[in-house]
Amino acid sequence: MKKIVFATGNPHKLQELKAIAGNCGIDFVLPPSGFDPVENGKTFEENSLIKAKEAARLSNLPSLADDSGLCVDALGGEPGIYSARYAETPQKRIDKLLNNLKGENNRKAKFVCAMNLVSPEGDVIFQTTGECHGYIAKTQAGTNGFGYDPIFIPNGYNCTIAELSEDEKNQISHRGKALRKVLEFLKNVQ
Ligand code: IMP
Repeated sequence: MKKIVFATGNPHKLQELKAIAGNCGIDFVLPPSGFDPVENGKTFEENSLIKAKEAARLSNLPSLADDSGLCVDALGGEPGIYSARYAETPQKRIDKLLNNLKGENNRKAKFVCAMNLVSPEGDVIFQTTGECHGYIAKTQAGTNGFGYDPIFIPNGYNCTIAELSEDEKNQISHRGKALRKVLEFLKNVQ
């Protein structure tokens, strides 16, 4: 079984990754302790590459990184790459976003995920992105998922992602879309 480090400190992301990957023959493991990359890139792609290279450097294993976030049209794409740092806690981030959109009719938004797979030496093997389009709810609902899921309604649905099952989320999510492209690539090179 192939071992690939998933360059994240976010247990929700690892859980989703493992559920999406299923029995694909790859053992996804967390990076060694000390994994604390400086995410000073200007795009999701740059930050994803920074994380992947750092995990490879620490582990000497092939590494896959996801950098993701929520981009809101009426806020000029914010919080974007700053999604994890928009406010102190997940609830405060939701409150801040809803507050910033108070009275705003254009609630269009998208989740974006950029993935980078690098070799143990840190060379890029595969890069891809996934997006999930929808809009920001007026009030939060649901307890599944994480982050901004309780306020994001995907196009074609009338409930938030946090009201969907894990399986339903993974079918349509930015991360699901990006990861399935990575898995397809790996299947063809194995
Ligand atoms: P990262 O770990 O630097 O990529 O930060 C991603 C941040 O974007 C998370 O902390 C969440 O706030 C948000 N985010 C990314 N993916 C999701 C998702 O699937 N659902 C809800 N929020 C997400």
